[in-house]
Amino acid sequence: MKVVLLGAPGSGKGTQAGFISEKLNIPHISTGDIFRENMKKKTPLGLKVKSLMDSGNLCPDDLTVELIKERLNHDDCKNGYLLDGFPRNLHQAKALDGFCPPDKVLNLDVDFERIERRITGRRSCYECGGTYHVDFITDPNKCPLCGGELFTRKDDTSETVKTRLKVYQTQTEPLIGYYSEQNKLVTVDGNAEISDVERNVLEALGI
Ligand code: AMP
Repeated sequence: MKVVLLGAPGSGKGTQAGFISEKLNIPHISTGDIFRENMKKKTPLGLKVKSLMDSGNLCPDDLTVELIKERLNHDDCKNGYLLDGFPRNLHQAKALDGFCPPDKVLNLDVDFERIERRITGRRSCYECGGTYHVDFITDPNKCPLCGGELFTRKDDTSETVKTRLKVYQTQTEPLIGYYSEQNKLVTVDGNAEISDVERNVLEALGI
């Protein structure tokens, strides 16, 4: 199955993606993760997108579309894909429809107030890449899984979160209507407990 995960930053896409990709045996492809990996390794791509990412703005469409087009050619996509963070605007959605359109689009709907709290309390691990909320770990500086050092992503600060939510509203939200017209959209309330969200996601995707 080819699935697109839609939702504002901090709506829980990454969390849901893990279990959906396992359940459907499809790769979880996150454009944000790919860009961050490139930034970490200081590749030409990473250096090119750094300031845009740090400020909460979108990376150029042509570059992002090419990245995904190339990634979807890999062998592990033969059963489908789970795209997280792509497409981010109508231009990207139309491009995807041109080379590998999704079967279903899962929209995770979460209140903006909750999102701001979730993102600004988020910490990531340098070592294993895990993400946690400070409210649910004992030491805000230490990864509960591997003991690595935790940090706040540059684009998880409250100022940048405002920009990211505005970018989401103006550029990404119109995709809800776009995919709804194609009868591909299923929406799940992402405000609930993770286990309830998971159950509703399974039901919505019919798996
Ligand atoms: P995310 O982890 O999905 O919130 O993405 C983090 C950042 O990566 C975004 O704020 C953008 O700067 C960049 N990014 C991720 N996906 C895309 C995309 N599809 N198009 C453009 N920029 C993207």
